[in-house]
Amino acid sequence: MPEPLLLGVVGLLGLAVGSFLNVVIHRVPRGESLVRPGSHCPHCGNEVRHRHNVPVLGWLMLRGRCADCAAPISARYPLVEAGTAALFVAVAARFGWSWELPAFLYLAAISIALAAIDLDVYRLPDQIVLPSYSVALLLLVPAMIAGNGWDTAARALIAAGVVWIFFYVVGFFGMGGGDVKLAPLLGLYLGWLGWSWVAVGLFSAFLLGGVVAAILLALRVARRKSRIPFGPYMLAGAFVAVFAAAPIAGWYSSLLVPTA
Ligand SMILES: [Zn+2]
Repeated sequence: MPEPLLLGVVGLLGLAVGSFLNVVIHRVPRGESLVRPGSHCPHCGNEVRHRHNVPVLGWLMLRGRCADCAAPISARYPLVEAGTAALFVAVAARFGWSWELPAFLYLAAISIALAAIDLDVYRLPDQIVLPSYSVALLLLVPAMIAGNGWDTAARALIAAGVVWIFFYVVGFFGMGGGDVKLAPLLGLYLGWLGWSWVAVGLFSAFLLGGVVAAILLALRVARRKSRIPFGPYMLAGAFVAVFAAAPIAGWYSSLLVPTA
């Protein structure tokens, strides 16, 4: 498939997946079914019409209000849809038409759902995190067979173990249980790409989390004791690594070993 066509198809797929992620983000923490009932207004309970269920456009057509009761509909719905499409396109541009692409698109999808849920309710639900290990492994097996080989797969599994031990130890110092369960999954993905990716992913997560926490404390939005979810920073850190680990690692090692 030529690159522009691939990006277009993946972008449309991202809009549709983003629409489903809105359902996941809303219902999984409440323990509700993802299938039934269909989308409905949380205020008046009326079902959303098909033409208003179109990603992003539906919300714009309604100008952010329910067609029946005019209750405001959060701007987060179109933002999640557009954000998923944008991240999908970026991932497709990064990996091209490859065997790894489906696995990393899956990571992008769960990352958006998990980050939003963690910001909402300070949880990374097991119902999403735990099955993702099986899904990720199943999606990466064809890539292993098709060319990446045993070395890559072994490195991914070892990285998952190393990251698990690291977070398990850090967990004693107040890391949430959900974070400890998610970390090895990110270790698996980044380990698949290489050890530099694992290092940049971990470093970026703590750097982003620390910087944002410092800003929130300085602005007095957060108090010293308030809970700041770490999941979104782990996920953001992983994507910083996916997209930028190679140049970051190159720049860092050039600092250590000056090439005059
Ligand atoms: Zn309504």
